Amino acid sequence: MERKLTPLKILGYLIYPNRCAFCDELIPMTETVCQRCRENLPHVKGNLCRKCGCERKYCKCGKGLEFNRAAAPFYYAEPYIRGLLKFKTNREDWRAEVFASYMAETIRENFTGVSIDFAVRVPDHKSRIDDKIRGPRIGYGKSPNGTLAKAVCAELGVELKNGLLRYHDENSQSQRNRNYSERHANVFGVFDVDDEGGELFGVNVLLIDDVFTTGSTLSECAKMLKLHGANEVYCITLFTTKQEKRKK
Ligand SMILES: [Zn+2]
Ligand SMILES: [Zn+2]
Repeated sequence: MERKLTPLKILGYLIYPNRCAFCDELIPMTETVCQRCRENLPHVKGNLCRKCGCERKYCKCGKGLEFNRAAAPFYYAEPYIRGLLKFKTNREDWRAEVFASYMAETIRENFTGVSIDFAVRVPDHKSRIDDKIRGPRIGYGKSPNGTLAKAVCAELGVELKNGLLRYHDENSQSQRNRNYSERHANVFGVFDVDDEGGELFGVNVLLIDDVFTTGSTLSECAKMLKLHGANEVYCITLFTTKQEKRKK
């Protein structure tokens, strides 16, 4: 994927040099991904579990995941995640477009024969929105997950339904800084579905998030979508972790 050059972009490059969407290293003006990443991005490939989408040696299905299938183009690893972390605080839309092109390709390759009716995204946690998203630089109400989901749907030509899924328990704590079992305990009853029009009944839903860690968040969202009538739930993330070791 190449960026188009305009006089404004050339001027911009002199002030803000171009960076790799993944590792954030400086790169030539027309590129979006550096050569090192193009050659070494940790692609998820090989003998994949049909459900969680990881290589079988990293399969995360043990916990009774409620979605039908999941897929991700890459494993979560340094330095390739730096661009995503930057995107989550700065919300640079061009990164979302690069990420989305890889996610859409993975959907086309992995979910062959699946017909998706529409997409929803994992909502941003309220505390994160308060801490990170609300600010003069980004503007209230803009969320990195929303930008990413919008870009994925634009690539696929699939409708994104906002607001169907939301956080239910305002006192629930963010998933950050929690270990494996705490994460599982933390998601029950966290999400709610607002579907007064019965839009979910009998449909196949694409669920979009940035990272598949334990799968508990995706699973809980899928459970709620299915409780409200969704037929099948397919998950796409940019990264998936190689199974976390349980901490005591
Ligand atoms: Zn790079
Ligand atoms: Zn699995």
